[in-house]
Amino acid sequence: MGPPEDGWVRAVDRWLPRLLPVNLPLRTCLGCRRSVARDELVRLAWVEPDAQVVLDPGFRLGGRGCYLHPGCAAEVIRRRTVGRALRRPVDPGQVAELLATLS
Ligand SMILES: [Zn+2]
Repeated sequence: MGPPEDGWVRAVDRWLPRLLPVNLPLRTCLGCRRSVARDELVRLAWVEPDAQVVLDPGFRLGGRGCYLHPGCAAEVIRRRTVGRALRRPVDPGQVAELLATLS
């Protein structure tokens, strides 16, 4: 048995998720920087073997990823923020092509 604070932390860990909508994980949009439910966003993932960015609509791919509103695609292309977000040598042209399929 630990000190009383541990009991509190455990109780909060157990109860807080029931009070918050944990089924909607929040992610930040790369275009407008707003934090919204992940389901509103599109995920881009860096695929290491191919060394390129792909769309990850089902949020299934592992590896580094970033999120954006489909409507923020133009802003993301213009500001070239994907490479910075993924910390990978992203080809802006390839990202533009990929995001063009969203609209
Ligand atoms: Zn956005």
